[in-house]
Amino acid sequence: MANENAVQGTRLIATEEAFATPEYLEAFSNIAPSIPSAGVRYAAQFVTDQEMGKRFSDPNVRLADMGASGVDMHLLSLVSPGVQIFDADLGTSLAAKTNDRLAELVRLHPDRFAGLAAVAPQNPTGAAREVERAIRTLGLNGIIINSHTHGEFLDDPKFTPLLEAAQYHKAPIYLHPSFPPDSMIKPFEDYGLHGAIWGFAAEAGLHAVRMVLGGVFDRFPDLQVVLGHMGEGLPYFLFRLDNVYGFLGRQHAPGRARLDRKPSEYIRSNMHITTSGMFWEDLLEFGLKTLGAERILFAIDYPFESSKIARDFITNASIPPEEKMMIMSQNAERLFSIRA
Ligand code: MN
Repeated sequence: MANENAVQGTRLIATEEAFATPEYLEAFSNIAPSIPSAGVRYAAQFVTDQEMGKRFSDPNVRLADMGASGVDMHLLSLVSPGVQIFDADLGTSLAAKTNDRLAELVRLHPDRFAGLAAVAPQNPTGAAREVERAIRTLGLNGIIINSHTHGEFLDDPKFTPLLEAAQYHKAPIYLHPSFPPDSMIKPFEDYGLHGAIWGFAAEAGLHAVRMVLGGVFDRFPDLQVVLGHMGEGLPYFLFRLDNVYGFLGRQHAPGRARLDRKPSEYIRSNMHITTSGMFWEDLLEFGLKTLGAERILFAIDYPFESSKIARDFITNASIPPEEKMMIMSQNAERLFSIRA
């Protein structure tokens, strides 16, 4: 039986921590202004910010911040929108270069950093090859997908090679939010809703529900998807997804195959959620009730959120010590094959 002393000795692994290489930031700054997309214009505000840039790309700044806030390890992932706004060739080559640098950083600081590989879904077979290289050769811990790719979502059959590779290599996919695609962004713009305040969850939640309703987990039953921000709203919708799918089902989606299971069952068996940017104990308790402690992971959302607030939140949460230890590090170690 774990006690509070055991919790105090448990390391804290944060699992949604934004990173970038100087080459990525340069490519973004050079090319983003020529991409006619409201979302890219929005993302440029933080991706090209000088102060943010240091936190994304300078490991010494990051290590100092981690030390100051008592966070033991960052699972790093390329800042949204990552390589997914570029054309297929540039996206593919930037992903590979980014992953090389990320793996080098992890080799230098194996106790402080682990990493999720960037891939470019624009080239699905290239992305599948990069999954294999990232896991087998570079020893990285999973895949980051910064949600939609030019307005397309992973339930599209064109992305099958990528999902196949992720399942085969047991690489969890962290489905990180992006700004809503151009087909969706207009009504968000009036009040600045495209970003973290609402649009990110609307977009990433949509992506996750599309994967469930699109039968992705009937095709890839072992695939694991990780959602930030306490599940981008999905835990709150479990009843309604099942209820409405149950009585409307195919009327919603004429011509689509019936799912083998209820929508909520895929969410409970193929998804994990993290605490990034949602440092609210009521929500943590709801996550524990709906998905269980084994599916919740600690995350901050560095450098956008306060590491100290995130750490105090999990440290002070009134939950059983066993569950706290799972959330702090044990689940991350198991899911992402991080050496204990
Ligand atoms: Mn994030």
